[in-house]
Formats: sequence, structure tokens, C-alpha cells
Amino acid sequence: MVNISRRSWAQQCLDALLPQYCLLCGLPSRQALPMCPACCSELPVNAHCCRRCALPLASPTASLCGPCLQRPPIIDHVVAPYRYDPCIALLIQRWKYQPLPRLGITVAELWRSAVIKPPPVDLVTSVPLHWRRRWRRGFNQSSQLAELIHRGHPGLANSTLQLGLLHRQRATAVQAGLNARARSRNLRGAFTLRGRCENLRVAVVDDVLTTGATANELARCLKAGGAREVQLWCLARTPAP
Ligand SMILES: [Zn+2]
Ligand SMILES: [Zn+2]
Repeated sequence: MVNISRRSWAQQCLDALLPQYCLLCGLPSRQALPMCPACCSELPVNAHCCRRCALPLASPTASLCGPCLQRPPIIDHVVAPYRYDPCIALLIQRWKYQPLPRLGITVAELWRSAVIKPPPVDLVTSVPLHWRRRWRRGFNQSSQLAELIHRGHPGLANSTLQLGLLHRQRATAVQAGLNARARSRNLRGAFTLRGRCENLRVAVVDDVLTTGATANELARCLKAGGAREVQLWCLARTPAP
């Protein structure tokens, strides 16, 4: 159950004057954020998942997924508190293509309320967008999420936010429709480092993790720069196809 109902007295007065409506069901949200408690509690929590890549697992006794057992990815650990489902998809799509601050805050608050104690890291950064895509969309959703996750999070007080650490030096073909191997080929050499990360534990923030090809390529780039450990933090993980 996700609780995003921490409201001050002033916020409660504001809610009464300007009621928020739930993005998913359309009813008054009765919270500071545009999601009602019932819809929040129905979001699919990614409780039993691979301890390395966060892939939802069917077997209650397994701790690693098949691909991680056969060929461990370069990324060391993935934090993905929810499973990707139509509700999460709707929320993320609305935020990406209608960049209202309250949508970004909602996504970040869902992550923060589910990840009270993030794994210890030294640096928090985000997945870079190619400048052309960023210009078309008007913002980088991963950077916005990283900023909102990091700001004031008591578990991240000892880490630094460094949004410009990674740079996407070439636009890559759209990944949808490509298999894992083609995705990995498509991304090879797409990222460069624009800062230092020697001997540091780095968390890269993204909205959703699908095949992990982008995460792995970013981890390759960070480890080539000396990073000791690379994690990916996202809101949701897609189940195995
Ligand atoms: Zn609702
Ligand atoms: Zn795995």
C-alpha cells in the first residue's frame, strides 16, 4: 500500500479550494497528489523480483532470473518498486507528453514512498536524452525524476546529484520492436562520460526498465570511467516477454 497522503494544514485548505482529481479513475483524489488512495493501493508492487535486474519472478524460491544466472549484466543492481502495467503506463505516458510539474512529482512520490531506504550510493545521475529528442519533448523526464527523487530524501543525504555526468553523443534508432541483441548493438558507443566517477557507487535514474540494454550500456560507460558499482533506479520494471 502506497501512502502519499502527507498533507499540511495549508495543503488541505488548498485541496478544498482547488480539488485534485485522480489521473487514473477521475474521482477526487483526496490527497495532495493527483492519485486517489484506492488507485495507489492497486498499483502492482514488484515484491518478488530478481535481486540483480528486478525482473518479476514467478517462482517463489528463485532469487535470480534465468538471464542473470546465465550471463550476469554489467549493471550491478536495479531498484524498481513497481511492475509495469497499464496504470503505470498511462501515468508515465501522460507525464512524458504533458510535462506538468504535478505529474513528475506524482511519479517521484510513488518511488520515494516505496523506497524508504535506497541502497547506499555516492552519486545520483540520470539517463541522458539526445539533444534533438530533448528539444522536441521540452524536458528530460529521467533528469526531472532524479532531481525529485534526490531532493530532501533522508536516505540520500550522503549522495550528490550530478545530472550532466552522462552524455548521449548520437541519436539512436527507436528501441521498440528490436530484440535484446539488436538493442545492445544499436546503443554501442552512444554514451560518453562528462565528469569523474572513479571508485564511486553511481545510481542512474530512468522511468521504466524494459530489456536493460540502455542500463547496461550506461553501466559499461561508467565502469570504463572507473565507477565501482552502477545501479539503475526506476519506477517500474516490465515483466519477461
Ligand atoms: Zn483513482
Ligand atoms: Zn535478473
